[in-house]
Amino acid sequence: PFRLSQKSLSLKPSSTVAVSSRALELQRQGIDVISMSVGEPDFDTPPHVKAAGIAAIEHGRTKYTAVSGIPELREAISAKFARENGLHHAPDAVTVTSGGKQALFNAFFALLNPGDEVLIPAPYWVSYPEMVALTGAVPVAVPTTPESGFQLDPDVLEALVTPRTRMIVLNSPGNPTGAVFPQDVLAAVAAIAQRRGLMIVTDEMYEHLVYGAEQVSIGTFAPEHTLTVNGASKAYAMTGWRIGYAGGPKAVIAAMNAIQSQSTSNASSVSQYAALAALEQHEETARFIEMARSAYHERRDVIVAGLNALGLPTPTPHGAFYVMANTDRVHPDELEAARRILDEARVAVVPGTDFAAPGQVRLSYATSLENIHEVLARLGQLVEG
Ligand code: PLP
Repeated sequence: PFRLSQKSLSLKPSSTVAVSSRALELQRQGIDVISMSVGEPDFDTPPHVKAAGIAAIEHGRTKYTAVSGIPELREAISAKFARENGLHHAPDAVTVTSGGKQALFNAFFALLNPGDEVLIPAPYWVSYPEMVALTGAVPVAVPTTPESGFQLDPDVLEALVTPRTRMIVLNSPGNPTGAVFPQDVLAAVAAIAQRRGLMIVTDEMYEHLVYGAEQVSIGTFAPEHTLTVNGASKAYAMTGWRIGYAGGPKAVIAAMNAIQSQSTSNASSVSQYAALAALEQHEETARFIEMARSAYHERRDVIVAGLNALGLPTPTPHGAFYVMANTDRVHPDELEAARRILDEARVAVVPGTDFAAPGQVRLSYATSLENIHEVLARLGQLVEG
């Protein structure tokens, strides 16, 4: 009675699904599996943010809002961009979306045509190439190496520019690598975008989670070429509230709003008021962020040292909450390595296959130190027999 669309069939089946469904199956059998595969903070949403969400419900803020978001929130985002990022986007050059993911989706559909090429540093977050491909554009991976800590080389990037290239996607601090691109690299990429007439879409969802590195917004170098995407999910432990946002050239924001007006209409009204509290009460929020950041920092140190000591070479990432471990010692194929780690060590990790990271698996350290120590003990038994 139905025929699935070419577009839906073109979506790559995720190799993470095989591992995560096996993890669920083991858990159902009562086996205690520790998940190192989650992509969200293990902290609860801060109390002042929750209270604003509850107040919004009680005050009947439960109706449609403007497509681009409530004006107060767009003003608060505009002020946040100026205060924390040195970016100047007026409230009408800002749009609020249902999570960072929808901001990216709207941006790609607003900016890409079939056949356009999009440069994406690899290893990358899987949704970038999949979303780009949905528009009919072509994702082009820009390789980086574990030896350099997955640092982007602007010359490698520029060598991949063709007459069809339209866009560069950046994600620093990055998922899955945790790499933070330094200021000189960002300045060089911005200069390439200006010289070659390219748009930069920069995903800064993990901006606050940096450990001894400085996060710089590339939009400060090439504002007319940059759309900055951010959101409440990772910074304020608000993954389930679904609030993302973007700031950039007004015409791009207007096109994103047009797309949003025919799909989701607006982000959840209640969640918008909660995000407003996170941004307006920014000193309270900053205390929460620092508590989380220092916890992640300590966990990163423990997991990186532990994995390297086990002969699973792992570069030290300077941001986000992920590490990439080389699993040759477990199995030369990362999918098999992830299976063995799950079946024999009862630890769920994500194989690098979909991230364009062969021979590696991703572990998220958004979990307790106690779990991290237990994971290292289990992996120790696996590799040392
Ligand atoms: N960008 C990156 C790099 C992410 O890792 C994620 C979530 O995993 C997102 C965007 C999506 O964020 P949201 O949950 O706000 O849609």
